Amino acid sequence: MAARDAPRLVPCPTCGKPAPFAPANAWRPFCSERCRSADLGAWASERFRVPAAAPTDNDSSVPDA
Ligand SMILES: [Zn+2]
Repeated sequence: MAARDAPRLVPCPTCGKPAPFAPANAWRPFCSERCRSADLGAWASERFRVPAAAPTDNDSSVPDA
């Protein structure tokens, strides 16, 4: 395998830049710690965001002004 030593590049889930998917990249599959933190932050905010009142489109009791 010729490309054995070359790390496989995967698109960073946050910014889309090619990031080396290798043990040397501690933030894989992200390209950097910043992108990893950003993604985890977004994931956490999504996870902990509880929809208090979802819009009810089927509720016809409220007149649609
Ligand atoms: Zn990135």
